[in-house]
Amino acid sequence: MSNLVRLLGFSTLNCGCLTGKYREVSTDRELVYVEEKGSGCRQHGHRRNHAIAPGDVTHGFKRESLSL
Ligand SMILES: [Zn+2]
Repeated sequence: MSNLVRLLGFSTLNCGCLTGKYREVSTDRELVYVEEKGSGCRQHGHRRNHAIAPGDVTHGFKRESLSL
């Protein structure tokens, strides 16, 4: 089963990882998925396709840069 999500935008973190921000349509929640880039990231939460809460992204996440 997969939830229907709408892509809101992408942002690159200072560590080099890429985050994709989505809105889950069924619950109207915002989700952020992290895609780890390279092998140098020490953030434990930055595993590939790992869902995190927007508030958990505290390093380098620029809300203003999210736009389509
Ligand atoms: Zn990272």
